[in-house]
Amino acid sequence: MKHFKETLYDAVCQEFRIDKLYFENRTKHQHLMIFHNARLGRVMTLDGIVQTTEADEFIYHEMLAHVPLFSHGRAQRVLIIGGGDGAMLREVLRHPVEQVTLVEIDKAVIDIAKKHLPDHSAGAFEDARTNLTIADGLEYVSDTDEKFDVIICDSTDPIGPGEVLFSEEFYTQAKRCLAPGGILVTQNGVPFFQLDELKVTARRMAPHFVDATFYCAPVPTYYGGFMAFSWGTDDTRLRQTDMATLHGRYDEAGIKTRYYNPEIHRASFALPQYILDALSGTS
Ligand code: SAM
Repeated sequence: MKHFKETLYDAVCQEFRIDKLYFENRTKHQHLMIFHNARLGRVMTLDGIVQTTEADEFIYHEMLAHVPLFSHGRAQRVLIIGGGDGAMLREVLRHPVEQVTLVEIDKAVIDIAKKHLPDHSAGAFEDARTNLTIADGLEYVSDTDEKFDVIICDSTDPIGPGEVLFSEEFYTQAKRCLAPGGILVTQNGVPFFQLDELKVTARRMAPHFVDATFYCAPVPTYYGGFMAFSWGTDDTRLRQTDMATLHGRYDEAGIKTRYYNPEIHRASFALPQYILDALSGTS
């Protein structure tokens, strides 16, 4: 029986049994695999790194979509960078937004995921509010005149095509594309193993946002403990949205979630001391 072995770290790794292989090939940009595992359901990997699994994708996509959207409260125009599997788009479209622009560099990811990972997008690419662009996310935010209420960077790790989405230039341009009171959130790795990645992001975001910080959620198949998400906005009130307001928006939206709720939302911004020390430069 074949196994998938993740190649993100040296010295430690995780392996998933491949019970059925649906797709494995190089696309124009990266190596793409989709296979079935008895415990995780369908799994997608890019360049040897786990991207998403049917078993735990709800945690990641609910937290990266609903925390900024319920904090903002009246987002109409949303930008998703990356997100080729379509699950982030699916979650954002559960809100009464006017339009979601999704900018994905690798069309093959969208096509193959729609075929072999259909429950991730669940028809989201066909929603009338979806505006799909195949482009590099950094080029898009550098060139567009559009303004967005929420920008979600659902990228791969800063290796290969995803590297530019962790650059100083990306945060500069993404901030330029935010409407007043807008929020940028990004996937920012697993701090237990990628603490430097988080420190670099903090250093690069600080000059552009009055409120730049992180929030966390445990995604079991992102090996090494909880995942960090970066948060950037100039409206310091948004991260302090009171619980009654969060509950009101959550109840009014009527979105059935499996991980997100207002208490988890608020608690996710509480960071462990080792991360606070790393961010304050005392460790
Ligand atoms: N949940 C995953 C994670 O946390 O690592 C991310 C999933 S999603 C599949 C990542 C997507 O980012 C991929 O479809 C990849 O093609 C896309 N991507 C990577 N670099 C990009 C870039 N520079 N511009 C736009 N999309 C990019």
